Amino acid sequence: MKEKDMEGGDIEFITPQGFEEGDKPRKMNLNIKTSCTRCGTCCANNSPVLLKDDLPLIISGALSYDSLYTIREGELMKSHDNETFEASMDFIKIKGKNGTAECIFYYGEAGCKIYENRPAQCRIFNCWSSHEELTGLEAKRLLRKELFDSAEVLLNIMDAHEKKCSYKKLTDVLERVAQGSEDAAAEIIDMLAYDTYARPFFQEKFNIPPNAMELILGRPMMDTIKEYGFKVEKNRDEYILLPIEKQEGK
Ligand code: SF4
Ligand code: SF4
Repeated sequence: MKEKDMEGGDIEFITPQGFEEGDKPRKMNLNIKTSCTRCGTCCANNSPVLLKDDLPLIISGALSYDSLYTIREGELMKSHDNETFEASMDFIKIKGKNGTAECIFYYGEAGCKIYENRPAQCRIFNCWSSHEELTGLEAKRLLRKELFDSAEVLLNIMDAHEKKCSYKKLTDVLERVAQGSEDAAAEIIDMLAYDTYARPFFQEKFNIPPNAMELILGRPMMDTIKEYGFKVEKNRDEYILLPIEKQEGK
């Protein structure tokens, strides 16, 4: 190996892949990243989680309510490499494009639409490092209850919603469904119906902007239930809980 310039990032390697004509070793140039080149890979892979430092971006309107949603504690979600995991706490994220993990503010070659006002996580993430900068960020996450801490009515709505349909409760009831309990299936339908109808009800009753509901109450459970292997179909006036695998003949 022959090092040309560590600071500049160009390193000349003699590769193990073989030899050029004769016995002359083949050479390879590697570009070592030392700063953000705004390539957009991280933006395409996953949208950022908001930290407490991002509160002014929401207050100023740089980040609008409809660009954000809450992941609730216990909710199942997918990582950018398609691993399913349970959220250990509530947190707020920028929405993804068309149901993907790609940040809605990422515009391909044009880059980040809100670059000057991008969230703290985007500023501190260094793809070229060992990611030590991400250690301890959980404690700095912005919570929906902090965002709306002066709006008592919203805090009460969150508590009522959580009491009726927390993901912890959903997971417990799904375990009973797996054991064949019909009562448990009905309980889930009840939970999903509450989540569905409470949103427009609260919105109208308390004059909440409709685009803030996914931030206040998280994603609709009729959508997230598929992460648990179920879907809900309507038969006349009745909702039925169906395992996705059975429905699709898998
Ligand atoms: S942090 Fe890395 S992956 Fe993200 S935009 Fe910058 S260079 Fe690309
Ligand atoms: S806010 Fe901007 S920098 Fe951050 S992930 Fe989205 S597009 Fe990338």
